Amino acid sequence: MIEFVPRNGSPEAINCPAFVCDACRKQIAGEGNIVWALKVRDSETETAEQSPLYAAHKGACDQALEAWLMSQYDSQWVPLWEEIGTFLKQLVHNTGRDFSQDSKGQYQQLVIRHPASNPHSQVP
Ligand SMILES: [Zn+2]
Repeated sequence: MIEFVPRNGSPEAINCPAFVCDACRKQIAGEGNIVWALKVRDSETETAEQSPLYAAHKGACDQALEAWLMSQYDSQWVPLWEEIGTFLKQLVHNTGRDFSQDSKGQYQQLVIRHPASNPHSQVP
């Protein structure tokens, strides 16, 4: 997840925004993946559903996180990954864009379906 990590010390106590791995709970400094799940829709008219977005180190952490995430949803759901660097570039780009002003496409309604459990108590 993106979190504010509290820090004390010189010159002041601050809260530092960071990606924290949802598997091992350590900071992701360098390569990592955004991991989430998406429900495969039967038709374009069905409302899109996805899980919240999670973050993990590449390798054992994102594999453990994906295994936990897929245990939270039925077989209509699929896991998706994106590198954090790519995600950040898209996020910065979209922060300055108003989706309602996009003349080339329409943005659809999306439901965020939260899992029944907390990944921090289930993933080592
Ligand atoms: Zn990790």
